[in-house]
Amino acid sequence: MNAFQKNVPDQTFETLNRHGEFTRLAVSPGIINKHYTPAQFQKIAEVAGEKGAIKYSASYSILVSIPTSAVTEAMQALREVGLYVAPSGPIIAMKACDFCDGEKMEAAPITEQLYHALEGIEVPARVRVNINGCASACYNAVYDDIGLVYQQESFDVYLGAVPMGAKAQAGMLFAKKVGVEHIEDFLLQMMNLYKEHARPNEPFFKFYRRTKSTEYWELVKKSIN
Ligand code: SF4
Repeated sequence: MNAFQKNVPDQTFETLNRHGEFTRLAVSPGIINKHYTPAQFQKIAEVAGEKGAIKYSASYSILVSIPTSAVTEAMQALREVGLYVAPSGPIIAMKACDFCDGEKMEAAPITEQLYHALEGIEVPARVRVNINGCASACYNAVYDDIGLVYQQESFDVYLGAVPMGAKAQAGMLFAKKVGVEHIEDFLLQMMNLYKEHARPNEPFFKFYRRTKSTEYWELVKKSIN
């Protein structure tokens, strides 16, 4: 049996960090696409080499730990084979379902628009915006900081999910049927509130739960009516 206690890796992200300066890169084939090509897998293996380590994560990406001195070259090599290297730090990070392997692409153009408008904006603590392309929400949008569930040219917007820990909880429905023509401005307004009123490093769910009864959230809701 190779799945349990006998299957412990020698070289882990933890052991690498004990012996040198390593950086973790989150790599995926794209925001929507979840299929890797063999060439992309080969490149990930090449970039990690004998010194690094590779593992999969819960955030639709593969994590690669490599010596910090090699990061710039590694990122370039990964991007050359079409891989997406997620930026790190306290920014807005976009996620999406795979739109049924590209068969159900109705929400793809607005997803791309939101990616260009939001990804990388600096915020007090990392905010994950997860877009799912239909009411099945099978990529768990409601368990991310901001969950957007698409239906007929609009989104249901969920806020305040506690993504992990003993108190993990799905987000609460904040607004129903926000039209695609309003959603970018709607999210930017929320992020401006977060930047303006959050405590230092306050996670988005704590900020939302602490302030949700204040008038400024009502004003955001009213802005789409
Ligand atoms: S959420 Fe809907 S569109 Fe997205 S992968 Fe699941 S079933 Fe397909």
